[in-house]
Parts: sequence; structure tokens; C-alpha cells
Amino acid sequence: MRLSHYFLPLLRENPAEAQIVSHRLMLRAGMIRQSSAGIYSWLPLGLRVLNRVEQIVREEQDRAGAQEILMPTIQPAELWRESGRYDDYGAEMLRIRDRHEREMLYGPTNEEMITAIVRDTIKSYRDLPKNLYHIQWKFRDEVRPRFGVMRGREFLMKDAYSFDLDAAGAKRSYNKMMVAYLRTFARMGLKAIPMRADTGPIGGELSHEFQILADTGESEVYCDKAWLATDILAEEVDYDADLEPFFREWTSRYAATDEMHDPAKCPVPASELVTARGIEVGHIFNFSTKYSAPMGAVVSVADGSSVPLEMGSYGIGVSRLVGALIEANHDGAGIIWPESVAPFRVGLINLRAADAKCVAAADALYAKLRAAGTAVLYDDRDESPGAKFATMDLIGLPWQLIVGPRGGAAGTLEVKNRRSGERQDLPAEAALNRIVEG
Ligand code: ATP
Ligand code: MG
Repeated sequence: MRLSHYFLPLLRENPAEAQIVSHRLMLRAGMIRQSSAGIYSWLPLGLRVLNRVEQIVREEQDRAGAQEILMPTIQPAELWRESGRYDDYGAEMLRIRDRHEREMLYGPTNEEMITAIVRDTIKSYRDLPKNLYHIQWKFRDEVRPRFGVMRGREFLMKDAYSFDLDAAGAKRSYNKMMVAYLRTFARMGLKAIPMRADTGPIGGELSHEFQILADTGESEVYCDKAWLATDILAEEVDYDADLEPFFREWTSRYAATDEMHDPAKCPVPASELVTARGIEVGHIFNFSTKYSAPMGAVVSVADGSSVPLEMGSYGIGVSRLVGALIEANHDGAGIIWPESVAPFRVGLINLRAADAKCVAAADALYAKLRAAGTAVLYDDRDESPGAKFATMDLIGLPWQLIVGPRGGAAGTLEVKNRRSGERQDLPAEAALNRIVEG
């Protein structure tokens, strides 16, 4: 993509409404535009990141055996009356009436809808287990939408729902999702720590929130220092095998949110305990028959009787992750994208748009990178070098390739790594190899 053609509405000044760095940088880097409180349009650069985050989430859900579907954003109120949540949900739910005065709502989550689908289609224990997920926009009329996409009113969520015959099966489903979540966040270069979370009035052991440590997190969290050195992707996972050892390994290390942390009972000595702020990027929950029992989602078992399905739900804040990624990856000059989610891998800068030799060299590199399938944003504009460097640093592409008259004479160009800041003069061929290979 040539920057001269790209829709990248950058802001020079820090927007006054943005209190945290990810919100500021997303607005300044032209990734999003607010349309009303907590509701955003995603512009080309932001959408590329959102799509990459979504794709990693999808791949890891698929790998764990979950199957993708797509449920609507608009739901009928009746479904929520069946579970009893229509009245309980309160003002966070956006309620709508259609032209026939039928009560509808913009879905804040999909337990009722998926339970109804499964109730109508799965009749026998032989059809279990199943795990179905979708990646769909949700609406919650949050009291205080803030921090940009981190606490929006309309936001993109991946939500999966598991259906099992019994509690042991439900635990197996839960374990798969826990492993899938650990892998998902690790692939984005994030350390997300599963923390015992409050299961609320339903009780039970099985609920974990995945928290990323960041100063701007909304919750206070506590964890064993050992978490900071854990490498999840080093482990080979076979989803058909028993994942209980993984579950034990990952939950044996202490980690808890504020609501669950009791200093008197904490097994980790103060010197080994990290106290920090956390951003919740995912939440997994086993809730047994909370929805299946009232909604009549049952299967027949071998002896002919019927039992309600054991269920769990598993959410990831896909759009929140884009903000969380920036909170975890930035410096004074701007964003520093991890390679796995970067909107483009390379920013190619021609420092002299008026110099025919530089243009020819940069155009040739652009063609070669594209031929190699490398996502590249080519700054071919007639702007000062300072402005070009500032733009590239702000939008945070992992690699910068800088073509200028100095290197031109020597037949070299400069390669800069955005994260380390390391710069190297290399012959064009070597520079390309460096970047294309990683
Ligand atoms: P929170 O405590 O942050 O309000 P929640 O417990 O309401 O989250 P869930 O219902 O478990 O969230 O939703 C699953 C995931 O969706 C959360 O872990 C979070 O990453 C994301 N999420 C929830 N609310 C929002 C929001 N208002 N804006 C963006 N992402 C959100
Ligand atoms: Mg909430």
C-alpha cells in the first residue's frame, strides 16, 4: 500500500478526551474514530489489526475443536424471559421495539440464543460434546464507557459455548478452552494470566479471568512472580489427550483478582507476590445447568431418561485486545506492534520523493516485498524526513526500510527495528532477506 493513497487520518495533537496511552495512540495513528460515546468506526489501519487479532483467536478456537458459527446481533426478548435474565440484566441492555411492537434487544452476550439453538437440534447424548463459538459485535450500555475500545459500548467479542453430558465432560471442555486461551494470548506476545474469579451466586470453582498486567488496568490483581517467566508456547498440546495436567500446572501458580484475593490466606510470601493492575482480556466460566435447566435444553441418555446439558461459556474481548496490546507495547514515539498482529510488517520510507534514483530504488524494493507476500506500507509522499520518521514510529510497524541519497550512492539502505531501535546499513538484497525472513 502506498501511503500517498492510504486513508490514514493522523492527529498531531493529543486528543483531550483520551486518558490512557492506547486510546491516545489509536486516535493519533488514525486507527479509530468515535461516533458516539463508546462506539467507534474502525479505519483501515485499525481494522487490519482487529482482523489479525480476530484471526489468531479463530485459529486457536478451531485448533481446540470449537466450531465457528455466526449468530445475529439482534435477539428476541422472549428468549431472555425464558432464562429469567430479561429483567435482571438492567440498564446495560439496549432494548428495541420493531414496527410490530415486538420486544427485541441488541445482544450483550449469547447464552440464551445458543441454548435455544442447541435445544432444538441436539437431542441425544451421542451428539455431545459440542463447542460452538462466534465472533460478533455486542452492545452493553456501560455506565462509564471510557479508555477508547477498552471499555466501549459496542465491542467485538469472541464467545464460545460448550455443551456436555456431565460435569466431567464439562471440565474437559473447560480445560481445552483454558489451554486455547493461554496459546491465543501468547501468540499475540501477551502474558495473560488466568486468575481465579468470582463465580457469583451460582458458585462453583470454575471461573478464570485472563488478565494482562498493565498500569492502566481497571482491576487490582495478585500473582506469583513465577508467572512472569512462564513460556506457554514452549509446550506441545494435544487436544485429544487429557489436559488436566496442564490445568493443574497453570492453576497451581497463585493468581487472583481483588475479589478473590485474601492476604491472610495467600500461599505466596509477600516477597514472591506481584501486586499490579490488570486488564481483563478473557473470561471462562462453567455454569453447569444454569441456562439448560430453565430453558429445557436436555438430551436423552442410554436408559431413555433426559438430562439437562452441562454448559460453559468462554469470552475474549477482541476489540479490547487491540487497546490492551498497545498498553503493553509502546514508547514515547508511538506504538510498537508485535509482529503477529502488526497491520503491516514493513514501513518502506523514501526520504527523497523528488530524487529519481531514490524513487527507482524504493519502487523496486516495494515491488520485491509485495512479490514476497510481505505486507508493506510505502511512504512515497513528498514530506520532510522528520515527518516520515515520526509517522512510522507512531504507527509502530515492526520494521522500517529507509531509502535515502546517502545509502543510494553506496548501494545500501537502512533497516531499523522499531522495538529495539537498532539500525543497520545493508545492501538491498541483504536488507530484504532480513525482513522477509524475520
Ligand atoms: P468487565 O468486568 O471488564 O466488564 P465482563 O465480566 O463484563 O468484563 P464478560 O461478560 O466476561 O466481561 O465478557 C468477555 C470479555 O469481553 C471480557 O473478558 C472483556 O475482555 C470483554 N469486554 C467486556 N465488556 C467490554 C466492554 N465494555 N468493552 C470492550 N470489551 C469488553
Ligand atoms: Mg462488564
